[in-house]
Formats: sequence, structure tokens, C-alpha cells
Amino acid sequence: MRADALRRSNGSDGPPNRSSVDPPAGVARLLSGVGTDGGTMTHEAHLDRWGHLPEWRGATFIDELETSGLRGHGGAWFPVGLKWRDIRASRLRAPIVVANGAEGEPASGKDRLLIEQVPHLVLDGAVVAAQALGASRVVVHVPARSVRTVTSAIESRQQHAPDPVGFDVVVAPDRFLAGQESAVVSTVNGRNPGIPTFTGLRTIRERGVDGRPTLVQNVETLAHVALIARFGAGWFRRIGTHDSPGTALVTVTGRWSEPRIIEAPLGVPLGQILGLESGEARSVQGVLLGGYGGGWVATADALAMPFTEEAARLLGTSIGAGVVALLPTGACPLSEVSRVVTYLEGQGAGQCGPCVNGLALLATAMNQLAFRPKSLRGGLSAIPTLCGLVEGRGACRHPDGVARFIRSALQVFSDHAAAHIQRGICQSTAAPFLPLPPGRHSRLATPRSR
Ligand code: SF4
Repeated sequence: MRADALRRSNGSDGPPNRSSVDPPAGVARLLSGVGTDGGTMTHEAHLDRWGHLPEWRGATFIDELETSGLRGHGGAWFPVGLKWRDIRASRLRAPIVVANGAEGEPASGKDRLLIEQVPHLVLDGAVVAAQALGASRVVVHVPARSVRTVTSAIESRQQHAPDPVGFDVVVAPDRFLAGQESAVVSTVNGRNPGIPTFTGLRTIRERGVDGRPTLVQNVETLAHVALIARFGAGWFRRIGTHDSPGTALVTVTGRWSEPRIIEAPLGVPLGQILGLESGEARSVQGVLLGGYGGGWVATADALAMPFTEEAARLLGTSIGAGVVALLPTGACPLSEVSRVVTYLEGQGAGQCGPCVNGLALLATAMNQLAFRPKSLRGGLSAIPTLCGLVEGRGACRHPDGVARFIRSALQVFSDHAAAHIQRGICQSTAAPFLPLPPGRHSRLATPRSR
């Protein structure tokens, strides 16, 4: 069915002119243009695959975006149309659009895949955003490793079909919090790169980069925007649920021999998405959803959960930026959590009390529980008490995320934690499982120094 027929069947006005290509019919939408060789899709190949962007007049695309129900895929799952309308309404000065591909989460790889393999889909989405908001400048915020790909993609567009906006490329620091909205603005403004500031979301939308209204939008979200602009809200809603329409890119660790990035239909049970039979699930002792700012969930609950942010919140966590890690039996969950918490402690900006003092105490306590349980003063209950001391007290949500990561681990792996206290550490010899950037993330005791 062509795009114009699709839009009529869903009550949306749809794209203003007919797309020259048919929309993807299956679950593979963003990934349907990704090759298997890992190479970057050229601008010519991109136009062959997706056709030219339709010309949406003024803010009309924001209506379409609201009809689509698209939510932000950077981790917050905030309604995108509402965010854009907010910025459009506060246009005392021309806004800035930031395509955010920082992806500081070590367990996620989907933003990197999009930027390096289908950069024109992301750039198209940023152009649509700029036109809808009346912005003349787009900042592409990516790690140093992706600067060359993005720069060459921008140059190729300028040669063949110049965009109506100017692009700047800004390097995202290699930090866990680099993609946090206020940290992105700090980086682009050239002050305290990668460091969150206490502003509140509304303030960034009103006064962000250079004091202008600023849209910071994750690159996957922008790639979805590029397809909605071509094929309309009705097509977008053909997959997913009413509140969480469409698909999501998910970085899966522990299901196959190597981590894999898949495109999943929102609302389908996670076990079905992963093709995991109940027999195979017995080799999984717990599931991490949402990465290191997310939380652990019991395996059966996670696999039965419809893959949406709403369902994850009912289980006390988030799907975040689409990170799923299946912890195999045989790994020590407490040593995994300890390694990650030590890493996260080092990622705080050191400007608020909970990060300066609280996270160090939590990292020490988790390390003791994992490797020297007899030295944990106050026993197991000491750790939730420490979590309570940092929760809700930082200028950003980093301490809350660390506390959720720890609390959920103590719930899901409660038997394992009790066994460490009562009988000493387990004898797991499994290699570290959860991915971390190179560096030393176990500064107190390691399994070898038990
Ligand atoms: S809570 Fe931590 S990471 Fe967040 S702003 Fe304060 S010091 Fe920085």
C-alpha cells in the first residue's frame, strides 16, 4: 500500500506529496536499509532506498508527529510531538536542533550503528525537526570515532542536494552521562563538556545552546522521524501499541554468542522478541533492562513483559535506550553489579554530595558484598540504607539510577546475596559479562584477591 493510501486509512493527513518508494511492510524499518557489511550507506543509495523528503509546510509536521505517538528513544520515552510543540511555542529566538548520538551507555550500540551505517536517515530527521521548529542550525553530537562518517555524510549532501539548514559537528566526551540532555548542552556550549547541570527540562527547551530554545533529540528518534515524514503517522502506528507505537532498536547481550542489535516491535513479549523457549530461559538467572541506569528483573517476569516503557515501569525499571542483558547462570551477579557500580561511581561529575560521597560508599559496600562479605558492616541491610542516602539528592538522576541498579539486583539475586553473607563468596570463575569501557573498574578487591 502506498503512503497516501495508508494515511487516509488512519485519519491522518499524511505526507504532503507521494513518496517515490513503498514503506517497509515488516518489523525491519530502520534496519531495513542497513547492509550486512557494516559499511556506510551513501547518499545516493539512501535516496534510492527511501526517496526524497516530502516538503512539510511550517509546523504542520508537528501535528503528524503527535498523531504518530512517537516517543523519545534516548531513554526517557517522552512524547516527541509534545516536546517539539513546547519548543515551537517558546520561539523568542530561533531554536537549535541537536542530534544526540553520544550513547554513553556501555551496553548499548544502536546509536553508533545508525550514525555509522545509515547517517542520512538521522540527518534527514534532524532536517525535518529544524524545518518544523524554524531552526537554521543543526548540531550533530557524536563520539570522536563517528566524526569522520558524519562529516563526510554532510559534505556529500551539500554537494548533491543542499539542505535548508547548516550543520555543525560537536564531539561528545567519552562519558556515561555525555548524552544526558543538560550535559549535551554543556558540551555544545563549550563549558564543562559532558557534565550535567541543574536546569530542569523546560529550561533547556527555552534556553539551551547559546541561550536559545533547544531540541536535544536522540539519533534513533530522528531516524524514526525521517520515516514518519515520508510515510506518515498511520504507517508508523501499524506496529506497536496505542501508547508505544512503532519499533525500537534493542542491544541484546547474552542471548547469542555476541551482542546483537535488533529491531523489535513494541508491545510484543520480550521472550517472543528474543525467540527464547522456556527451556533456554533456565540458563538465564536474571535480566537487566534499560542498561546501567535501569534495573534487574526476574527472568520469567522479563520474558513475559510486553516490550514497552509502561510495562517496564510496572516492574520498577525502564527499557531505557533499549538495552537487554541476559545474565547467564554461572556468573556471579554480585561481582557483575560491583564492577558496574565502581565504573558508575567514576562517572559522576563530582559536583553534588550524593556523587562525591554516597556513590563511593555504595561502590565500596557492593565490592565488599561481592568479594569480602565479612567486612560489610551492618550486613545486607546496610546497602539499601546507603541507597536511601543518595536517592533524589543529586542535581541529575545519576545517583537515582545507580541506586535502582543496586536495589533491583539485591531483590532479584536475594538468595545469592544471602549466601555470600552466610557462606562466603561463590566460586564462579565466569569471565566478566556486562560490557564496560576499557579501564579498571574494580578498585578494591577482585575475585583473584579474595
Ligand atoms: S548528581 Fe552527580 S552526576 Fe548528577 S550533576 Fe550531581 S555530581 Fe553530577
